[in-house]
Amino acid sequence: MRWLLAALLPFAAACGEDVTPVAPTTPVPEPRVCTDELERARAYIDSILPREWDGTPFRFDLFDHFPEIAGADYLDGQLEEVRGLADRIEEQIGYPIIEAGSVIPVRANLPQGWNGPPPIDLGTCDQWREPGQVLGIHLTGRPYGHQGQGAMWAAPGCALVGYWVGDGLPSTEYRQQYARTAIVHEIFHLFGFKHSDNRELPEPVGVFMSRQLTGGNTSGTLYPTFNDMDALRCVFPENRP
Ligand SMILES: [Zn+2]
Repeated sequence: MRWLLAALLPFAAACGEDVTPVAPTTPVPEPRVCTDELERARAYIDSILPREWDGTPFRFDLFDHFPEIAGADYLDGQLEEVRGLADRIEEQIGYPIIEAGSVIPVRANLPQGWNGPPPIDLGTCDQWREPGQVLGIHLTGRPYGHQGQGAMWAAPGCALVGYWVGDGLPSTEYRQQYARTAIVHEIFHLFGFKHSDNRELPEPVGVFMSRQLTGGNTSGTLYPTFNDMDALRCVFPENRP
């Protein structure tokens, strides 16, 4: 029995002490070694943000022209979503890439039929935005192939996100979550990301999103995983060469 006691004793000693319980920690995955993420992101629908990055966070602004049916708090809620995303990115990778701006007047001299119905002829990009800006605009119709409401269209070549609120925001909680957090998904398109199941684009075009960011979780929330945000380090390096 002697060997058994020897093995058990250290255990018993540890158990006898008054030890404050420590919450189990989820192991943090190892950051990746960058490979072709930047090349992929740049090739995704001519996305402008990976080409424009100079280390200054992009600013997300919304045009002040959303219909009343969207609700009084809708735009503030969208800025809040972007702020949350910005914080999570900075917390994980250590520096900011995007920040929430404000609700701004519609820019003058936009192309004819500038907010739809889709498809929209975007004209030239400098008609829309200043360098470093990401713009959210409301469309008068739903882009082909989309369902639901909220942020649902991204034009990576000009850093635009299109919204459509239709008859108001969806009634079920699941769809509301979806409509509220879809902006995060669309912003990743602007960052040069494609859907997790996208097999149509040739390789290497577009960084793959996670499934969670592509389609949401069971509550309808679209959110970036560790890997989605880790890939941002490679697309938007802190010290750009
Ligand atoms: Zn998408």
